[in-house]
Amino acid sequence: MTERLYHEDASLRRFDARILRVIEDVQTAGAAFLHTHRPGVVLDRTAFFPTGGGQPSDRGSLAGVGVLEVLELDAAQVRGEEEGDEDGDATSRGRVVVHVVERLNDGLAEGASVEGVVDSVRRLDHTQQHSGQHVLSRAFEETAGAETVSFHLGGSECSIDLDRVDLDAAAILEAERRANEVIQENRPVTVRVVTPEQLATLADEVGGVELRKPPPDVVVTGGKIRLITVDGFDTNPCCGTHVERTGELGLVKVIGAERTRGRTRVRFVAGRRANRDYAERVRVVNDVAAFLSVGLEQVSDQVRKIHADLRRSEREKKRLEDELFPRLARAWLDEAKPIERGPFQGWRVVVGEISWGDGTTLGRLAETLHVLGKESGGRLVTLLGQDDGGGRVGVLFMRRPAGPDGPDVSDLVQAAAQTLGGRGGGKPDRAQASGTNREKLAGVLEEARRSIVEA
Ligand SMILES: [Zn+2]
Repeated sequence: MTERLYHEDASLRRFDARILRVIEDVQTAGAAFLHTHRPGVVLDRTAFFPTGGGQPSDRGSLAGVGVLEVLELDAAQVRGEEEGDEDGDATSRGRVVVHVVERLNDGLAEGASVEGVVDSVRRLDHTQQHSGQHVLSRAFEETAGAETVSFHLGGSECSIDLDRVDLDAAAILEAERRANEVIQENRPVTVRVVTPEQLATLADEVGGVELRKPPPDVVVTGGKIRLITVDGFDTNPCCGTHVERTGELGLVKVIGAERTRGRTRVRFVAGRRANRDYAERVRVVNDVAAFLSVGLEQVSDQVRKIHADLRRSEREKKRLEDELFPRLARAWLDEAKPIERGPFQGWRVVVGEISWGDGTTLGRLAETLHVLGKESGGRLVTLLGQDDGGGRVGVLFMRRPAGPDGPDVSDLVQAAAQTLGGRGGGKPDRAQASGTNREKLAGVLEEARRSIVEA
């Protein structure tokens, strides 16, 4: 069994221990390790907090080697036996903490004494998120009668699932306000370990401490239960690491809430994460407000107005294009006479150039031309160019019908791409290219036309 120092002293970051066992490949223990096929080390005592109770494990180093992950397992599992094995002695039925390490070195051998160092930044972060959850969960119970049914501590944000779906923004804000009030009151947070019998009388004493059903990993040695109390506010069974006073949390901030299968998932950050999150949000909002030249309180309205204006402009543009495209297409088609001789006799070639539109305009214009072209005799090649004034020019060559007869426009596009100083490609009946040599656009279109007409 591993003595768990983090339960006695959550502030311990450096400790000495003896190696009880070295596991060449933790996968043989069959547990859900994040880091597969790495060596593992079991110590007689550890300050490394293992994954549990929704809190990810600590990291750090053992004898100078990186500790990637820490997991609490049944001793029998580590020995490669089935749980409840008849041969297992008393100690094998205990729980051990397995430290997954990057590699083994001479210092990591069975019987050796090692120094363990816990990554204090990561621990502080987890402790703040976890303790923040206790305070926020109780605040939701107190202000909204909403119970926490699960907790997730992620790499960038945390979440609790509440057993109600009717929590509106005001209810969430009120719970958050209450949580921060308790944080600012800097209440003591204490840990005690009780027997199930003591737990029952404790509940009687304080008029019914409403505890969530203790998860199995909260039950410590001898069936005892670990209780975390935020003075005068909350008591809950928990195996995680916690702050000593609520003031260490600094701030709890709800950053979002979603309904999910009969529950409300509330996303939040606490402690230094909340400070970083706040700083980032201020930076983003200030940036937007400065860009829009409005005050903070006008940002939302202004963005909505711009969005509505944009939608109106897009509708107007579509309407104008619907009028313009057929007119333009007809005018260009009128100029295109059928080729009189050569391999492409009877085909018409339309050349058009525009100085407006976006990346889809040439395609839509070509489609309009081919619809009208089909009505007026079929066999049509369209050679379209676009210079939108943004520094790049583009061409789209297309022919209909698409069958084996008719000019291969992908060859023509390759030549055009080279002259335009860019890239291009496509199929024999539809290809496009773009480049930066704007002054070459008209020449490229004329060259392509001539190579078809004079073929
Ligand atoms: Zn906890």
